[in-house]
Amino acid sequence: MSEASAETAVNRQPLAPWLQTQLEGLLAQRGHAWLLSGPSGLGQFDLALALARAWLCEQPSAQGACGHCGSCHAVEVHTHADLCMLMPETLSLALGWPLDEKTQDELDSKKRKPSKEIKVDAARDAVSFTQFTRSRGSTKVVLVFPAERMNTITANTLLKTLEEPPGPVKFILATDAAHQLLPTIRSRCLGHTMVWPDFEPALAWLGQQAQRQAAGEVGAKKTARPPEAADLQTLLVAAGGRPADALSWANNSAAADAAQHWQALPKAMARGDVSALADWAPAQAVDALQKLCHDVLAVRVGAPPRFFSAGDLPGTKPGLYALTNWAKELSATARTVEHPYNAGLMLEALVSRARIALNAK
Ligand SMILES: [Zn+2]
Repeated sequence: MSEASAETAVNRQPLAPWLQTQLEGLLAQRGHAWLLSGPSGLGQFDLALALARAWLCEQPSAQGACGHCGSCHAVEVHTHADLCMLMPETLSLALGWPLDEKTQDELDSKKRKPSKEIKVDAARDAVSFTQFTRSRGSTKVVLVFPAERMNTITANTLLKTLEEPPGPVKFILATDAAHQLLPTIRSRCLGHTMVWPDFEPALAWLGQQAQRQAAGEVGAKKTARPPEAADLQTLLVAAGGRPADALSWANNSAAADAAQHWQALPKAMARGDVSALADWAPAQAVDALQKLCHDVLAVRVGAPPRFFSAGDLPGTKPGLYALTNWAKELSATARTVEHPYNAGLMLEALVSRARIALNAK
């Protein structure tokens, strides 16, 4: 790595303000194993990594890591010998954390696809990391994310080490589905519930992040113009106030397009227009339809919509019975949507079902 790029890597952006407050709260407490939980998009991973950096930092303060010692630098460039990132392979690849040599070889030679689960082999490696790896400082850290991607065997592999760590090892588990974790894992950690940011600071943060992206500072995609505040607001509302979700959305397609798409979605569904969901993964489509169903139901009973603007909702007045049935079907679909037998057919069925529900009397 050149000095210039190392410099950029260390010169990291500050933690979102609501995460910074939580970091300071966590650092003020003792505990060798934390479980950070809450709905997705609240910044679990960022907070977990900031906590790991602070624990490993050579000159930490009550505010967290110093940001310029050798340890901080090693975390920034993803090569810290005392930090074990236990993640699904797909996520390690996406976030640029190195895989072990054997795994990388298998993936490079296309022997198999990267796993979406946290593999038991990786958990075994994490256990031996806690036992055998010599540490450069006084602490070693294992970060597990998303912790719910451990199956029972993987979780059990980690359990004993979590309970009785050999020496100065700290654990941070982060999850957006704590209910899917083994109760034995949950009970061995101190719990921290992610704090939901207020709308205005979240919007301000989203604006800063989107500006940086537009300027080409982070992420690969360089967009021509910085996003409009109104579009970001639409996306933040669409994401239910979860800033990290809104950001990844603004990141994947230009914020203006994504916002427009979202605003047009309810009426497109009422028309049965499949093309409105064509580019979406099934899980994302089901999530959007659940939000639409929620809002149409809310408006029907006299409450304000939560994810869409009232003006964007279809003018139809669907019956409550049809809507609640649709809501039930969508939650059943949401549970199995990770593995559709045919994504195209599934989207067609979803849209057809949406059209019927939205036009039902
Ligand atoms: Zn430091």
